Amino acid sequence: MASLTVSSITNGDVRTHFVSTAAVNWVILQDDSGVTLIDGGYPGHASAVVESLTQIGSAPEEIRGALLTHAHVDHLGGIAALRRGHSFDVFADPEEVGHARRDFLEQASPADIARIAYRPSVLRWLSEIVPLGALDKSGIADALPFTDLSALPGAPVAVPTHGHTRGHSAFVVGGGEVAVTGDALVSGHMISTVAGPQCLGHVFTHDVPANEDAVASLAALDATVVMPGHGPLLRGDIAVFVEQALT
Ligand SMILES: [Zn+2]
Repeated sequence: MASLTVSSITNGDVRTHFVSTAAVNWVILQDDSGVTLIDGGYPGHASAVVESLTQIGSAPEEIRGALLTHAHVDHLGGIAALRRGHSFDVFADPEEVGHARRDFLEQASPADIARIAYRPSVLRWLSEIVPLGALDKSGIADALPFTDLSALPGAPVAVPTHGHTRGHSAFVVGGGEVAVTGDALVSGHMISTVAGPQCLGHVFTHDVPANEDAVASLAALDATVVMPGHGPLLRGDIAVFVEQALT
């Protein structure tokens, strides 16, 4: 099983858990009514998602709903796999639902990856993610567009950040303290040559200028904890991280 670490932030009755693995991260919101999953890693991460729930004293039966920051296989796959044995709704931004259902796929193709596969870091990354199901093209046929998320555990608030994919969404939780930024704003990646706040490379991003605008808009948030889709958790003023990512 993929090794994982869990970092938790408490705001009142809500605990926000950042689950980090080598290849990708996910987030679990927990309160007395159960848990909300935000993303779930690759298909091969389903057992690691269960393990992360166990580590926080929860279980898949307590999932009241799952949210996708976006429908790339490294965020959707674990949720799709988990759902084969457990019943819960999966929500995405209305613009992203078609992607989650695989009406279309906005993802780097094997040919895109082949062009950069001469780099040792890319080969290491591929040897990590292919066994995790990176080539799995299945979606979630009954994914739903989200509207009001306030009834879900942790009461996340969606922040549209279209660009990385056409309907990418960030989420604010913990009364505004925590921003879950998905792949709009990350803090590292197995094939990135730099550490710290950054935007993912062009090969992974559907619309680069739109993503940069979306990241710029995150500077208006009050968050002091950033939980990205890739790389470590960041503590500090999100506006500073935004500036670093855009320079
Ligand atoms: Zn992505």
